[in-house]
Amino acid sequence: MQALRHMFRSLFLLELFRGMRLTGRYLFARKITVQYPEERAPMSPRFRGIHALRRYANGEERCIACKLCEAVCPALAITIDSEQREDGTRRTTRYDIDLFKCIYCGFCEEACPVDSIVETRYYEYHFENRGEQIMTKEKLIAIGDKFEKQIAADRAADATYR
Ligand code: SF4
Ligand code: SF4
Repeated sequence: MQALRHMFRSLFLLELFRGMRLTGRYLFARKITVQYPEERAPMSPRFRGIHALRRYANGEERCIACKLCEAVCPALAITIDSEQREDGTRRTTRYDIDLFKCIYCGFCEEACPVDSIVETRYYEYHFENRGEQIMTKEKLIAIGDKFEKQIAADRAADATYR
């Protein structure tokens, strides 16, 4: 009986017509393919792209060198050195993130008590030379300065969950 059914299906090309019916259904359906990079898919305010270090509006860097981010990082990607300034405050002298180690878990930004280290929406970057994957303090602050408006807006939109 099974063999007969199989022969009937083969003879009348039933499998082929079933496949074509499925193809035909999607031929007229709304297209969901995005023509990147001209078109972009929606992005969450919690997207975890490249890192940035933020400053306050007066230009003072937020980071107080508490090293919570370094301690919480599961990939040991963050390296911080710090010293006390003349005014008694403590600031980092070195803040490196090795992006080859980073797994973009977001723990560093969750741990930061002053919203200093954050992950931005920016993900279109690449490296061409050895060592470029180390994001130094200067690079991270420059990214923070560049995207501060977007970072502030995203954190305000997401405040309920933080
Ligand atoms: S995102 Fe995660 S892995 Fe990457 S630096 Fe932060 S804590 Fe470490
Ligand atoms: S970035 Fe935040 S958590 Fe990390 S050392 Fe600076 S203040 Fe502390």
